[in-house]
Amino acid sequence: MAGEPQEDCLFCKIVAGQIPATIVRETETTIAFRDINPQAPTHVLVIPKVHYRDAAELAAARPDVAADILRETQAVADDDKLESYRVVFNTGSGAGQTVWHAHAHVLGGRGLQWPPG
Ligand code: AMP
Ligand code: ZN
Repeated sequence: MAGEPQEDCLFCKIVAGQIPATIVRETETTIAFRDINPQAPTHVLVIPKVHYRDAAELAAARPDVAADILRETQAVADDDKLESYRVVFNTGSGAGQTVWHAHAHVLGGRGLQWPPG
């Protein structure tokens, strides 16, 4: 059920400490950890501890936690002293979503082209 930990979810396992990750920040409702396949000098994922399949479902069910995610993306940027950065929520497989637990990518530390591919 949405909002409950999912047995087959990689990010729920990271939240539960069953799979290691390089955690850089944690709050009551979120964790932030370095992406295993970084696409920029800073590439951190900020995720809710609760399980929702994507950012839209999270925002609909738990707007408070969605706001926590956005606040944490700024905190990650501050920690890594990024003046400019990009926050991405890939939503749907056509947009490159591969993990079905809502997550924000925080990318920075190099020039970022716009529009992205
Ligand atoms: P997305 O393609 O938007 O669903 O993003 C999923 C991200 O999770 C990708 O950038 C992966 O590199 C990253 N990822 C997958 N497994 C792990 C892991 N065990 N630890 C950290 N990041 C991961
Ligand atoms: Zn999950």
